[in-house]
Amino acid sequence: MAGEPQADCLFCKIVAGQIPATVVRETETTVAFRDINPQAPTHVLVIPKVHYPDAASLAAAEPGVASDILIEAGRVALDEKIVEHGYRVVFNTGSGAGQTVFHAHAHVLGGRGLQWPPG
Ligand code: 5GP
Ligand code: ZN
Repeated sequence: MAGEPQADCLFCKIVAGQIPATVVRETETTVAFRDINPQAPTHVLVIPKVHYPDAASLAAAEPGVASDILIEAGRVALDEKIVEHGYRVVFNTGSGAGQTVFHAHAHVLGGRGLQWPPG
C-alpha cells in the first residue's frame, strides 16, 4: 500500500532503526540525519517516515507530510547556523537527476559557497 514501509528500502530501514544514522532531528512524521557522503560542511537529509519514491509523489498523496519536510529543512538550517550565508534544499528526482535512493528526501546543503546553476 502507498506509504507503507518497503522491505528493500534503505531509508525505511533508517526510519525503523535497522540501519544506524546520525539523527539530528526527529518529528512524528520526519527524520533528519547526516548524509554518509557529505557534499558540504552541512549535508543533512530530511525524509518522511512514510515511503514514497520521490518528493512529488509524497506531495500528491500526503501534502501535510511534504510540508513537514520543508519546515524541518528550515529548522535544520537554523540549528546548523547556515541561514545567514545561504543554503540549498534539493530534491533530486529520477536517476537522470542523480536520485539514487527512491524514498523521498530533501538534501539540506550549506556551510560553503554554492554554485548556481548546479551541475
Ligand atoms: P540521492 O542521490 O538519492 O539524491 O541522495 C541519496 C543520498 O543518500 C546520497 O547523498 C547518499 O550519500 C546518501 N546515503 C546513501 N546511503 C546512506 C546511508 O546508509 N546513510 C546515510 N546517512 N546516507 C546515505
Ligand atoms: Zn522507504
